[in-house]
Amino acid sequence: MIEVKGVSKSFGSNEVLKDISFDVKEGEVVVLVGPSGSGKSTLLRCINFLEEFQAGEILVDGDAVGYNGGASGPSRRRQSEADIADLRTKAGMVFQNYNLFPHKTAIENVMMGPMLVNKESKADARAHGLELLAKVGLKDRADHFPSQLSGGQQQRVAIARALAMRPKVMLFDEVTSALDPELVDEVLKTLRDLSNEGMTMIIVTHEMQFARDVADRLLFFYQGAIIEDGPPAEVFANPKTERFQTFVKRFQ
Ligand code: ATP
Ligand code: MG
Repeated sequence: MIEVKGVSKSFGSNEVLKDISFDVKEGEVVVLVGPSGSGKSTLLRCINFLEEFQAGEILVDGDAVGYNGGASGPSRRRQSEADIADLRTKAGMVFQNYNLFPHKTAIENVMMGPMLVNKESKADARAHGLELLAKVGLKDRADHFPSQLSGGQQQRVAIARALAMRPKVMLFDEVTSALDPELVDEVLKTLRDLSNEGMTMIIVTHEMQFARDVADRLLFFYQGAIIEDGPPAEVFANPKTERFQTFVKRFQ
């Protein structure tokens, strides 16, 4: 479903992704962990077309979604804006700061993308949106404004909003990091539910217990490279690197 092949990316002389390769099969949950600055967000942003990269290729559902700004040739042409918009809808992304539109209600936040980008009718967008709000446990909050919702509730609206675009894959970048501790579990539960429904996901998180429970595969990023890759039980039991051991000690 997602193929990342030999991707390298630099900001100026700072190489932040170094020849990254991995794939994510349909229905698989891959969790990325790693120290601050190791390149996790940059990788998600490349997969969702928010960043260009200098080498390699990224395919989502068979289409080259990442363009390679540094090279030429037919497979590396820069896609049109329309192609990019189309490809971006394949991967839904949710960030640490949920950025809901403050002057729109929960359901209006969820309906906007489908109506504006996917040209769904208002009735369809509303029906689907209400279904998604119910799925994230916010059926009775549809008409609340973001300021009337807790951080965890707002984050769940943001997840519903991303799902409303009917993405093939979901990318989550530290979606619980900005939340008060007592609100973290309700958002993690939403991610677990999505995983149980078979959604293909890449999740960046510092929640190690969650990673162990939910990930089919755990990737450990260190200075722009993947230095551990395997089922979490294996990686935790037999890490290949001392760096991973040092890293997880901080969470114990
Ligand atoms: P964190 O856990 O703190 O979120 P991360 O693993 O997500 O870290 P990235 O945000 O991907 O790390 O950053 C990787 C590197 O790229 C860092 O050295 C960062 O300073 C650099 N970087 C990220 N975005 C930019 C940018 N727009 N311009 C220049 N450098 C950037
Ligand atoms: Mg980050």
